[in-house]
Amino acid sequence: SRKTLTAVNPANDKVIGEHEMLSEPEIRAKLDAARHGFAELRKLPVAARARKLHAVADLIDKRQADIAEVICHEMGKKFGDVIAETRISAAIVRFYADNAEDYMAPKPKQVAGAQKAEVVRDPMGAVLGVMPWNYPLYQVVRFAAPNLAGGNACLLKHASNVPGSAKLITQLFHDAGFEEGTFTWLPVSSSEIAEIMRDPIVCGVTLTGSEEAGKSVAATAGELAKPSVLELGGIDPLIVLDDADIDKAVEIAIDGRFDNTGQSCAASKRLIVVEPLVERFTERLVDQVQKLRIGDPMDESTNIGPMSRKDLRDDLHDQVKRAVQKGAQLETGGEILDKPGAWYAPTVLTNAAPGNPAFDEELFGPVASVVIADDTEHAIELANNSPYGLGGTVVGQDVKRAEQVARRLDVGMSFVNRPTTPFAELPFGGVKGSGYGREQSEYGFGEFLNVRTVFVA
Ligand code: NDP
Repeated sequence: SRKTLTAVNPANDKVIGEHEMLSEPEIRAKLDAARHGFAELRKLPVAARARKLHAVADLIDKRQADIAEVICHEMGKKFGDVIAETRISAAIVRFYADNAEDYMAPKPKQVAGAQKAEVVRDPMGAVLGVMPWNYPLYQVVRFAAPNLAGGNACLLKHASNVPGSAKLITQLFHDAGFEEGTFTWLPVSSSEIAEIMRDPIVCGVTLTGSEEAGKSVAATAGELAKPSVLELGGIDPLIVLDDADIDKAVEIAIDGRFDNTGQSCAASKRLIVVEPLVERFTERLVDQVQKLRIGDPMDESTNIGPMSRKDLRDDLHDQVKRAVQKGAQLETGGEILDKPGAWYAPTVLTNAAPGNPAFDEELFGPVASVVIADDTEHAIELANNSPYGLGGTVVGQDVKRAEQVARRLDVGMSFVNRPTTPFAELPFGGVKGSGYGREQSEYGFGEFLNVRTVFVA
């Protein structure tokens, strides 16, 4: 019998969909279709591809309520937060639609001995996007939009718990005019990725997800000498400086840590607070976290919904228990809620120091870890004491000083007085264990394009 992908609503454990997976011959047929799709897509003028992308953005806007319902039911994100996700997604698609012609225009160069010398960008094939469930739409468009604009076809291996979202997104690209083979969903298991990458039509791979998944895909890319982009999350610091307004700092910390039920790569996972403020900050933080309303993600008054999967919830609880065993202090939460679904109580841990799982490991859920720093220098040292380096936030009233501190973090994204937030115009990505390459902005455009030198003597 056929293998299927099962979608389960993490708010109540109900099975909400079964989707057939592809057999081996079907995968080969999809790759052949991508070969044809790519050949057609690259022939189109850039402006024609940009028009299709504008249609994608318009459809995202038009269908935002349908998209929100499917995503909400499949991975538990609050309905209103999926609406916000559709907005940034549409903005990214429009950004590339608006800028593609400029990015693709030949760049003439003055070179000795050349009648003509220029640099042009050409597409190379089909890019495989291996994507996670935490922002099912945003993660897909930020890889697909720049590639389609540049003339590359897209192959999507979405996370296995969001098949309905993958199907809906694929339909949307098709309805906007991207023909068969230009944007293709591959409902396959992750064990089939390496074989797919071996097909000559696949010119590169981009993955957002765990370090393990990223390293596995990058190893295959290395073996094949195909380019890769990795976005692997982090244990991002949020530094609270001694001149910070406590209420404001807590507001930013809660937003940065508990948004999307804490399941964001660039969430503020370590709240590093200078000693004189620790007590007041923690008191206020615990008070505010206890006020978060846990409930149905479809309900507008809910602050915190379920996590996306029970296995990940159980892993998180394990990490919290180990953190407490090793000396972290549990201030609130720390428990599985006794009802169907992947529910976890919003949690605050203090005394999260190096050597403790609450400092050393990525906690991918609603758990804030407070870290005590002696002073600003110590805070920076602690912030940079991490195998990861995705984003970092610094909170303080002296904005100039806060900016100087933010620039000293070993990260890809430095934010002052705001949690790390994606913008279409700004590159997104990290250093160290957080991966390499960039998405969004002009930097995310050329990752899988051929930069061709043309010289006429
Ligand atoms: P994964 O990294 O396993 O999933 C991300 C994507 O990679 C999915 O499409 C998955 O497919 C695929 N994948 C998994 N293993 C491999 C592999 N060996 N080779 C190729 N592709 C693979 O994330 P999980 O859902 O298991 O979450 C585990 C942890 O990952 C989280 O707790 C968090 O720490 C991190 N994570 C980080 C994210 C980020 O935004 N940076 C997003 C999601 C998770 P499939 O679903 O079929 O397994």
